[in-house]
Amino acid sequence: MQTKLFIGGTWHEANGGTLEVVNPTTEELLHHAPAASSADIDKAVLAARAAFKTWKRTTGAERAVFLQAIAEGVRQNKETLARLETQQNGKPLPEALWDMDDVAACFDYYAGLAKDLDSRLETPIALPHPDFSSLARLEPVGVVGQIIPWNYPLLMLAWKVAPALAAGCTSVLKPSELTPLTALELGRIALEAGLPAGVLNIVSGGREAGAALANHAGVDKLAFTGSVATGRSVMQAATAGIKNVTLELGGKSPILVFDDADLEQAIEWILFGIFWNKGEVCSATSRLLVQENIAPKLFERLKLECEKIVIGDPLEDGVLLGPLVSKGQYQKVQSYLDIAKTEGLQLLTGGKRPSHLQKGFFLEPTVFVDVPSSSRLWTEEIFGPVLVAQTFDTESQAIELANTSTFGLGSAVLSQDLARAERVARELEAGIVWINCSQPTFCEAPWGGFKQSGIGRELGTWGLENYLETKQITTYNSQKPWGWYLKSV
Ligand code: NAD
Repeated sequence: MQTKLFIGGTWHEANGGTLEVVNPTTEELLHHAPAASSADIDKAVLAARAAFKTWKRTTGAERAVFLQAIAEGVRQNKETLARLETQQNGKPLPEALWDMDDVAACFDYYAGLAKDLDSRLETPIALPHPDFSSLARLEPVGVVGQIIPWNYPLLMLAWKVAPALAAGCTSVLKPSELTPLTALELGRIALEAGLPAGVLNIVSGGREAGAALANHAGVDKLAFTGSVATGRSVMQAATAGIKNVTLELGGKSPILVFDDADLEQAIEWILFGIFWNKGEVCSATSRLLVQENIAPKLFERLKLECEKIVIGDPLEDGVLLGPLVSKGQYQKVQSYLDIAKTEGLQLLTGGKRPSHLQKGFFLEPTVFVDVPSSSRLWTEEIFGPVLVAQTFDTESQAIELANTSTFGLGSAVLSQDLARAERVARELEAGIVWINCSQPTFCEAPWGGFKQSGIGRELGTWGLENYLETKQITTYNSQKPWGWYLKSV
């Protein structure tokens, strides 16, 4: 495990002390990771600025070679990285292994887009004036400050770093203080891939390091993923230098189950939508809306299946639910369970620590039913394995309930009537709508939210565009004098 920061292609002693990375399964210290000070952030930004001078002149095809080498490095280290991810985050190992495949696929995908970029760098523009010609040229934005959360530590890095490097930008990436270990390992992989010094800098650290990066005058663009509250401060920091900013924030995504949905499929997607990655998923479908006439039967099946979910050490075979990431997150989720008690909410299942686990930040899969729209459990992002449910009568009522939220990240519609599902999908105020599923994510498709769920889109070609500026170059091709001021020429 790394003990230094990855800056300018070498390992640097951190000046901000260390971060205690705790294994949420055992509650024991896993590693002392380096904590960047604002001076270290400064050093990293300078390294990225120096590297940008040459990296921006490389072709997409040249950059693709490095991205593919990083993808290959991730594949070669897949088992080690996945175990480390599980140890620091608590996600079941099969989920971490799946994440590593997605990380490698993301670097490969953007390697492909980097190559394509070479053929579309300059586009002629037809002008109505015969004496002029013009073209639009795509250029990298510059040095980007990238700040990520702890729920998909290496995958969130890939979603940020791969498109930025593909576009010709250089990056200073700050992972979460809770889960910096796999990001630092990626520094080693980038080094082995031969990535030129300073193109990618990985500076683990806490809030202060994040704020120093967000406020740094040498950063041209900020790309942030995290909570709404932090996103607001990052946006405020961006205003000082009028920096380009993209924000991927929280959610409280609805899943709508109509009475013609296949019941067994519905149960599977409801469970996957909220308990995958322990419910610590920005797009988790954490609000369940069920058509009234099937609600009793569906809730009965849901309770039964929730109680079968195997909770325990995420490195053990067969475990489907690991611990929450940290003591702080565990306490935050517990505080919502306390609110549920005060509000007298009806608990269908769960709501406590599993009796066989004395250590670790574990919580049973939890479902509340008949939760009123006024409840904080209905309106706020809990970010844990807690599902809140309501029933609806008509399609328009379901849409109204789904859209009544300050968030607009994900949503899901389950119905065997595809015409209805598609009609509802078009009405939902969300950046992502899943029909007859919840959560499957492909790096080719745009990712991001409406309303307070964020600004901008990641992934797909949209992810690459985030890191490109458009320049127009307009030429006067005539020998004739323009003749506005110099009329006598
Ligand atoms: P967080 O906002 O607490 O922290 C995110 C990152 O910001 C961390 O690296 C943190 O150190 C850094 N940070 C903290 N204060 C900062 C400041 N003042 N300036 C700059 N950086 C600062 O979020 P979290 O608890 O790590 O992650 C959970 C949140 O992330 C949830 O709300 C979740 O919905 C969201 N999320 C969104 C997406 C998406 O794609 N929309 C994906 C994953 C997670």
